[in-house]
Amino acid sequence: MDHYETLGVARDATADEIKKAYRRLAREHHPDANRGDPTAEERFKQITVAYETLSDPEKRRRYDMFGDEGIGSAGFSDFGGISDLFASFFGGGFGSASGRSGPARGADVLAEIELTLEEADTGVERDVEIETLNECSECHGSGAAPGTFPSACSQCRGTGELRQVRRTMFGNVMTASTCPRCGGQGQEITSPCPRCTGRGRIAEVETLTVQIPAGVDDGAQLRVSGRGHAGVRGAGAGDLYVAISIAPHPIFQRAGDDLGCEVGVPMTIAALGGTIEIPTLEGPELVEVAPGTQSGHVERLKNKGMTRLHGRGRGTLVALLKVETPIDLTEEQRDLLERFAASRGESTGGRGLFDKIKEAFN
Ligand SMILES: [Zn+2]
Ligand SMILES: [Zn+2]
Repeated sequence: MDHYETLGVARDATADEIKKAYRRLAREHHPDANRGDPTAEERFKQITVAYETLSDPEKRRRYDMFGDEGIGSAGFSDFGGISDLFASFFGGGFGSASGRSGPARGADVLAEIELTLEEADTGVERDVEIETLNECSECHGSGAAPGTFPSACSQCRGTGELRQVRRTMFGNVMTASTCPRCGGQGQEITSPCPRCTGRGRIAEVETLTVQIPAGVDDGAQLRVSGRGHAGVRGAGAGDLYVAISIAPHPIFQRAGDDLGCEVGVPMTIAALGGTIEIPTLEGPELVEVAPGTQSGHVERLKNKGMTRLHGRGRGTLVALLKVETPIDLTEEQRDLLERFAASRGESTGGRGLFDKIKEAFN
């Protein structure tokens, strides 16, 4: 994707036009403003990467000449960093309910877990390894070296805003813009914390135990509140989302709370009636079938399906019966079946005839 196209600006756009385009698009596509839309994060990322490239004169010059190869990917921020950029631009994310400017809430983190159907049925405790930006323990997220404090920003004198009076043909116009030096924070770190180099956050890998509730379905996402990336300068942490996928089961298919399976029934039991075993997640269940049971007959076992999520009981187990034709008959069994066929007047096209021909040749 071309960065100019992404921002919807001309190739000769001024720095100001690029900034304005980013400001508008970033607000529109920020993941916090598009909750539930999984593509928003990707779009937001593209917009931010485009802006990071085109807002830097040197990067823009190389991009114009060589395209993305001129930039290399090493220079791009991770998503946490992109959130930081957004925060520095607007002086706050969408996280602050009041809309006042403040540091950005940390970005969300996604982890993935695959479960067996049995685990999804009973619920399970799982350890997930996640890498998150956590508050730096040395400076407690302030970014300032221990014993020092952030000082008022030298450019905006702590207001976070730059006010300019411009003379125009309509008279004097006052404009206010976010201070580029402090990103609207009004503070500046003069001696950065050595542990986090002033960022206030440190990437750490940790193992988290997640409780997965019984009855969870494939594709579900569990939210673990506050276990995403730490916020910037003490702002609230993002959330951890755990995406659940369920591995295919050798016997059962799942449809919501119901389970389906195919069960073979010996021909004799199908004809005479009797007892068959139907598998369930809790072990085989003995079920009576009536004489004359046909292939395609469906047995419904109430309360033998999946455990209902946050509810009582289980769904239904639907067993599709399939009458099985016996194979590998012994001499005796073959005889019995032929006599059976003869008594029904059913021609087996049989071995009897074939044997007689063979005998004739010998
Ligand atoms: Zn620190
Ligand atoms: Zn400032």
